Amino acid sequence: MAAGNDIDVLVSEVGPRDGLQSIKSIMPTVAKKAWIAAEAAAGVREIEVCSFVPAKILPQMADAEEVVRYACTIPGLTVLALVPNFRGAENAIAAGAHKIALPLSASETHSKANLRKSHAEVLDEVRRIAAVLKAMPAERRPGFEGNVATAFGCTLEGAVSADKVVELAAALMAAGVDEVGLSDTTGYANPAQLRSLIRRVKSAIGSDKLSGVHLHNTRGLGLANALAALEEGVTTLDSSLGGLGGCPYAPGASGNIVTEDLVFMLDAMGLKTGIDIEKLLAVRQILREALPNDELYGFTPDAGLPKGYSRGWGVTRAA
Ligand code: ZN
Repeated sequence: MAAGNDIDVLVSEVGPRDGLQSIKSIMPTVAKKAWIAAEAAAGVREIEVCSFVPAKILPQMADAEEVVRYACTIPGLTVLALVPNFRGAENAIAAGAHKIALPLSASETHSKANLRKSHAEVLDEVRRIAAVLKAMPAERRPGFEGNVATAFGCTLEGAVSADKVVELAAALMAAGVDEVGLSDTTGYANPAQLRSLIRRVKSAIGSDKLSGVHLHNTRGLGLANALAALEEGVTTLDSSLGGLGGCPYAPGASGNIVTEDLVFMLDAMGLKTGIDIEKLLAVRQILREALPNDELYGFTPDAGLPKGYSRGWGVTRAA
Protein backbone atom coordinates (compact mmCIF):
# COMPACT_ATOMS: atom_id res chain seq x y z
CA MET A 1 0.00 0.00 0.00
CA ALA A 2 1.36 3.33 -0.99
CA ALA A 3 0.41 5.35 2.08
CA GLY A 4 3.17 5.32 4.71
CA ASN A 5 2.59 4.50 8.37
CA ASP A 6 2.53 8.14 9.33
CA ILE A 7 -0.03 9.24 6.76
CA ASP A 8 -3.59 8.13 6.05
CA VAL A 9 -3.80 9.15 2.41
CA LEU A 10 -1.10 9.51 -0.24
CA VAL A 11 -1.86 12.48 -2.44
CA SER A 12 -0.01 11.82 -5.70
CA GLU A 13 0.57 15.01 -7.66
CA VAL A 14 0.22 14.48 -11.42
CA GLY A 15 0.22 18.09 -12.64
CA PRO A 16 3.74 18.10 -14.12
CA ARG A 17 2.61 15.19 -16.35
CA ASP A 18 -1.17 15.21 -16.86
CA GLY A 19 -1.52 18.97 -16.44
CA LEU A 20 1.35 20.10 -18.59
CA GLN A 21 0.73 17.62 -21.41
CA SER A 22 -2.80 18.96 -21.82
CA ILE A 23 -2.05 22.64 -22.28
CA LYS A 24 -0.39 24.31 -25.23
CA SER A 25 2.15 26.27 -23.21
CA ILE A 26 5.51 24.64 -22.62
CA MET A 27 6.70 25.16 -19.06
CA PRO A 28 10.42 25.93 -18.86
CA THR A 29 12.45 23.16 -17.20
CA VAL A 30 13.60 25.52 -14.47
CA ALA A 31 9.97 26.21 -13.51
CA LYS A 32 9.12 22.49 -13.50
CA LYS A 33 12.01 21.90 -11.12
CA ALA A 34 10.90 24.76 -8.87
CA TRP A 35 7.31 23.43 -8.86
CA ILE A 36 8.37 19.88 -7.98
CA ALA A 37 10.78 21.06 -5.28
CA ALA A 38 8.19 23.38 -3.72
CA GLU A 39 5.50 20.71 -3.58
CA ALA A 40 7.94 18.23 -2.06
CA ALA A 41 8.90 20.88 0.51
CA ALA A 42 5.18 21.32 1.30
CA GLY A 43 5.09 17.59 2.14
CA VAL A 44 3.88 16.00 -1.11
CA ARG A 45 5.52 12.55 -1.18
CA GLU A 46 4.83 11.31 -4.70
CA ILE A 47 4.88 13.28 -7.94
CA GLU A 48 4.32 12.05 -11.49
CA VAL A 49 6.90 14.32 -13.03
CA CYS A 50 6.67 13.54 -16.75
CA SER A 51 5.73 11.20 -19.55
CA PHE A 52 8.38 9.49 -21.67
CA VAL A 53 6.87 10.16 -25.08
CA PRO A 54 8.72 11.41 -28.17
CA ALA A 55 9.16 15.20 -28.13
CA LYS A 56 7.59 15.43 -31.58
CA ILE A 57 4.32 14.12 -30.11
CA LEU A 58 4.45 16.03 -26.82
CA PRO A 59 7.02 18.84 -26.88
CA GLN A 60 5.88 19.71 -23.32
CA MET A 61 7.68 16.55 -22.15
CA ALA A 62 10.93 16.98 -24.11
CA ASP A 63 12.91 17.46 -20.87
CA ALA A 64 11.54 14.29 -19.22
CA GLU A 65 14.93 12.78 -18.51
CA GLU A 66 16.36 15.94 -16.94
CA VAL A 67 13.24 16.42 -14.82
CA VAL A 68 13.39 12.83 -13.50
CA ARG A 69 17.08 13.11 -12.70
CA TYR A 70 16.49 16.35 -10.81
CA ALA A 71 13.42 15.08 -8.93
CA CYS A 72 15.37 12.00 -7.80
CA THR A 73 17.75 14.29 -5.88
CA ILE A 74 14.90 15.45 -3.59
CA PRO A 75 15.01 13.41 -0.37
CA GLY A 76 11.89 11.43 0.50
CA LEU A 77 10.13 12.02 -2.83
CA THR A 78 8.84 9.11 -4.90
CA VAL A 79 9.40 10.02 -8.55
CA LEU A 80 6.83 8.57 -10.90
CA ALA A 81 7.02 8.63 -14.72
CA LEU A 82 4.32 7.68 -17.20
CA VAL A 83 5.47 5.40 -20.00
CA PRO A 84 3.38 4.64 -23.09
CA ASN A 85 5.46 1.65 -24.25
CA PHE A 86 8.65 -0.40 -23.86
CA ARG A 87 10.90 2.29 -25.29
CA GLY A 88 9.51 4.87 -22.87
CA ALA A 89 10.00 2.44 -19.98
CA GLU A 90 13.63 1.89 -20.96
CA ASN A 91 14.22 5.65 -20.91
CA ALA A 92 12.40 6.12 -17.59
CA ILE A 93 14.40 3.30 -15.99
CA ALA A 94 17.68 4.73 -17.33
CA ALA A 95 16.79 8.15 -15.91
CA GLY A 96 16.26 6.56 -12.48
CA ALA A 97 12.48 6.91 -11.97
CA HIS A 98 11.36 5.21 -8.75
CA LYS A 99 8.14 4.04 -10.29
CA ILE A 100 6.75 3.75 -13.81
CA ALA A 101 3.10 3.73 -14.78
CA LEU A 102 1.72 2.44 -18.07
CA PRO A 103 -1.83 3.20 -19.21
CA LEU A 104 -4.04 0.56 -20.79
CA SER A 105 -7.24 2.08 -22.06
CA ALA A 106 -10.35 0.00 -21.40
CA SER A 107 -11.78 1.51 -24.56
CA GLU A 108 -9.85 -0.08 -27.42
CA THR A 109 -10.74 2.86 -29.68
CA HIS A 110 -9.12 5.22 -27.16
CA SER A 111 -6.12 2.88 -26.84
CA LYS A 112 -5.58 3.01 -30.58
CA ALA A 113 -5.92 6.82 -30.62
CA ASN A 114 -3.73 7.34 -27.55
CA LEU A 115 -1.03 4.66 -27.83
CA ARG A 116 -1.77 3.43 -31.37
CA LYS A 117 -2.04 -0.08 -29.93
CA SER A 118 -4.68 -2.75 -29.37
CA HIS A 119 -5.15 -4.28 -25.90
CA ALA A 120 -3.08 -7.33 -26.88
CA GLU A 121 -0.25 -5.12 -28.15
CA VAL A 122 -0.20 -3.04 -24.93
CA LEU A 123 -0.13 -6.21 -22.81
CA ASP A 124 2.83 -7.44 -24.89
CA GLU A 125 4.70 -4.24 -24.03
CA VAL A 126 3.85 -4.77 -20.34
CA ARG A 127 5.32 -8.29 -20.46
CA ARG A 128 8.52 -7.02 -22.11
CA ILE A 129 8.90 -4.27 -19.49
CA ALA A 130 8.23 -6.71 -16.64
CA ALA A 131 10.95 -9.03 -17.96
CA VAL A 132 13.49 -6.18 -17.96
CA LEU A 133 12.50 -5.16 -14.43
CA LYS A 134 12.74 -8.73 -13.20
CA ALA A 135 16.32 -8.92 -14.42
CA MET A 136 17.31 -5.82 -12.41
CA PRO A 137 18.73 -5.99 -8.88
CA ALA A 138 15.84 -5.55 -6.42
CA GLU A 139 17.31 -2.41 -4.82
CA ARG A 140 17.40 -0.55 -8.16
CA ARG A 141 14.19 -1.91 -9.61
CA PRO A 142 11.43 0.69 -10.01
CA GLY A 143 7.86 -0.11 -9.08
CA PHE A 144 5.57 -0.89 -12.01
CA GLU A 145 1.95 0.19 -12.05
CA GLY A 146 -0.62 -0.56 -14.73
CA ASN A 147 -3.42 1.93 -15.10
CA VAL A 148 -6.75 1.01 -16.60
CA ALA A 149 -7.58 4.28 -18.37
CA THR A 150 -11.07 5.33 -19.52
CA ALA A 151 -12.24 2.88 -16.83
CA PHE A 152 -15.52 4.72 -16.29
CA GLY A 153 -16.40 5.72 -19.81
CA CYS A 154 -14.86 7.02 -23.01
CA THR A 155 -15.51 10.11 -25.11
CA LEU A 156 -15.08 7.97 -28.24
CA GLU A 157 -16.92 4.74 -27.28
CA GLY A 158 -19.29 6.02 -24.59
CA ALA A 159 -20.04 3.46 -21.87
CA VAL A 160 -17.23 1.09 -20.94
CA SER A 161 -18.11 -2.36 -19.66
CA ALA A 162 -17.14 -2.99 -16.03
CA ASP A 163 -16.47 -6.63 -16.99
CA LYS A 164 -13.87 -5.39 -19.48
CA VAL A 165 -12.18 -3.23 -16.82
CA VAL A 166 -12.00 -6.15 -14.38
CA GLU A 167 -10.66 -8.41 -17.13
CA LEU A 168 -7.96 -5.89 -18.11
CA ALA A 169 -6.93 -5.28 -14.48
CA ALA A 170 -6.40 -9.03 -14.09
CA ALA A 171 -4.57 -9.18 -17.45
CA LEU A 172 -2.20 -6.39 -16.33
CA MET A 173 -1.39 -8.28 -13.13
CA ALA A 174 -0.82 -11.48 -15.11
CA ALA A 175 1.48 -9.57 -17.50
CA GLY A 176 3.70 -8.55 -14.59
CA VAL A 177 2.72 -5.19 -13.07
CA ASP A 178 3.02 -4.80 -9.28
CA GLU A 179 -0.28 -3.01 -8.86
CA VAL A 180 -3.19 -1.57 -10.81
CA GLY A 181 -4.81 1.86 -10.72
CA LEU A 182 -8.12 2.99 -12.17
CA SER A 183 -8.29 6.20 -14.18
CA ASP A 184 -11.33 8.29 -14.95
CA THR A 185 -9.51 9.80 -17.93
CA THR A 186 -12.65 11.44 -19.27
CA GLY A 187 -14.36 12.65 -16.09
CA TYR A 188 -17.36 10.32 -16.57
CA ALA A 189 -17.31 8.57 -13.17
CA ASN A 190 -19.89 8.93 -10.43
CA PRO A 191 -19.51 7.76 -6.82
CA ALA A 192 -21.82 4.72 -7.10
CA GLN A 193 -20.00 3.50 -10.22
CA LEU A 194 -16.65 4.05 -8.53
CA ARG A 195 -17.64 2.08 -5.42
CA SER A 196 -18.93 -0.81 -7.47
CA LEU A 197 -15.92 -0.98 -9.80
CA ILE A 198 -13.39 -0.69 -6.96
CA ARG A 199 -15.08 -3.61 -5.18
CA ARG A 200 -15.11 -5.74 -8.30
CA VAL A 201 -11.48 -5.03 -9.22
CA LYS A 202 -10.32 -5.64 -5.65
CA SER A 203 -12.06 -8.97 -5.53
CA ALA A 204 -10.51 -9.96 -8.86
CA ILE A 205 -6.87 -8.99 -8.18
CA GLY A 206 -6.64 -8.67 -4.37
CA SER A 207 -7.48 -5.61 -2.30
CA ASP A 208 -3.81 -4.69 -1.77
CA LYS A 209 -3.21 -4.61 -5.53
CA LEU A 210 -5.57 -1.77 -6.39
CA SER A 211 -3.18 1.07 -5.73
CA GLY A 212 -5.14 4.19 -6.39
CA VAL A 213 -7.56 6.16 -8.46
CA HIS A 214 -6.97 8.97 -10.91
CA LEU A 215 -9.91 11.33 -11.15
CA HIS A 216 -10.87 14.26 -13.33
CA ASN A 217 -13.28 16.99 -12.33
CA THR A 218 -14.82 17.43 -15.76
CA ARG A 219 -18.40 17.31 -14.42
CA GLY A 220 -17.73 18.58 -10.92
CA LEU A 221 -17.85 15.13 -9.27
CA GLY A 222 -14.13 14.88 -8.58
CA LEU A 223 -14.18 15.27 -4.80
CA ALA A 224 -17.37 13.23 -4.39
CA ASN A 225 -15.62 10.46 -6.31
CA ALA A 226 -12.46 10.85 -4.23
CA LEU A 227 -14.49 10.43 -1.04
CA ALA A 228 -16.24 7.35 -2.45
CA ALA A 229 -12.86 5.81 -3.30
CA LEU A 230 -11.54 6.63 0.15
CA GLU A 231 -14.53 4.96 1.78
CA GLU A 232 -13.80 1.86 -0.31
CA GLY A 233 -10.31 1.74 1.21
CA VAL A 234 -8.35 3.37 -1.62
CA THR A 235 -5.50 5.37 -0.05
CA THR A 236 -3.74 6.88 -3.07
CA LEU A 237 -5.49 9.72 -4.86
CA ASP A 238 -4.09 11.54 -7.91
CA SER A 239 -4.64 15.26 -8.30
CA SER A 240 -3.15 18.26 -10.03
CA LEU A 241 -2.14 21.59 -8.56
CA GLY A 242 -4.43 24.29 -9.87
CA GLY A 243 -6.53 21.61 -11.59
CA LEU A 244 -4.34 21.59 -14.66
CA GLY A 245 -4.81 18.54 -16.80
CA GLY A 246 -6.91 16.47 -19.11
CA CYS A 247 -6.47 14.13 -22.01
CA PRO A 248 -5.53 15.43 -25.47
CA TYR A 249 -7.28 12.44 -27.06
CA ALA A 250 -10.49 12.78 -25.06
CA PRO A 251 -12.13 15.97 -26.32
CA GLY A 252 -13.92 17.87 -23.56
CA ALA A 253 -12.15 16.05 -20.74
CA SER A 254 -10.15 18.62 -18.90
CA GLY A 255 -8.87 19.12 -15.40
CA ASN A 256 -7.70 16.67 -12.78
CA ILE A 257 -9.14 17.14 -9.32
CA VAL A 258 -7.48 20.12 -7.69
CA THR A 259 -4.70 19.17 -5.26
CA GLU A 260 -5.39 22.16 -3.01
CA ASP A 261 -9.11 21.29 -2.67
CA LEU A 262 -8.40 17.57 -2.17
CA VAL A 263 -5.83 18.26 0.54
CA PHE A 264 -8.19 20.71 2.23
CA MET A 265 -10.97 18.11 2.27
CA LEU A 266 -8.74 15.37 3.69
CA ASP A 267 -7.03 17.68 6.17
CA ALA A 268 -10.32 19.18 7.39
CA MET A 269 -11.63 15.64 7.90
CA GLY A 270 -8.70 15.04 10.25
CA LEU A 271 -6.89 12.69 7.86
CA LYS A 272 -3.10 12.87 7.71
CA THR A 273 -1.57 13.61 4.30
CA GLY A 274 1.82 14.87 5.51
CA ILE A 275 1.15 18.06 3.52
CA ASP A 276 1.27 21.58 4.96
CA ILE A 277 -1.73 23.16 3.24
CA GLU A 278 -0.51 26.73 3.60
CA LYS A 279 2.80 25.86 1.95
CA LEU A 280 0.90 23.96 -0.75
CA LEU A 281 -1.30 26.97 -1.53
CA ALA A 282 1.83 29.10 -1.93
CA VAL A 283 3.14 26.79 -4.69
CA ARG A 284 0.46 28.13 -7.06
CA GLN A 285 2.51 31.28 -7.44
CA ILE A 286 5.14 29.30 -9.36
CA LEU A 287 2.48 28.08 -11.82
CA ARG A 288 0.93 31.51 -12.15
CA GLU A 289 4.27 33.05 -13.09
CA ALA A 290 5.40 30.24 -15.40
CA LEU A 291 2.02 29.84 -17.15
CA PRO A 292 0.59 33.37 -17.27
CA ASN A 293 -1.90 32.50 -20.03
CA ASP A 294 -3.30 29.30 -18.52
CA GLU A 295 -6.20 29.19 -16.11
CA LEU A 296 -5.73 27.78 -12.62
CA TYR A 297 -8.69 26.24 -10.82
CA GLY A 298 -9.55 25.58 -7.20
CA PHE A 299 -12.12 26.72 -4.65
CA THR A 300 -9.90 26.64 -1.56
CA PRO A 301 -7.21 28.83 -3.15
CA ASP A 302 -9.89 31.33 -4.21
CA ALA A 303 -11.81 31.39 -0.92
CA GLY A 304 -8.82 30.96 1.39
CA LEU A 305 -8.68 28.72 4.45
CA PRO A 306 -11.49 29.19 7.00
CA LYS A 307 -10.74 31.63 9.81
CA GLY A 308 -8.72 29.96 12.57
CA TYR A 309 -8.41 26.76 10.50
CA SER A 310 -6.51 23.76 11.81
CA ARG A 311 -6.50 20.11 10.74
CA GLY A 312 -9.53 18.11 11.74
CA TRP A 313 -11.21 21.01 13.44
CA GLY A 314 -14.74 20.27 14.46
CA VAL A 315 -14.27 16.54 13.89
CA THR A 316 -15.27 14.66 17.01
CA ARG A 317 -14.14 11.10 17.36
CA ALA A 318 -15.37 8.43 19.70
CA ALA A 319 -12.71 7.61 22.30
ZN1 ZN B 1 -5.71 12.15 -16.36
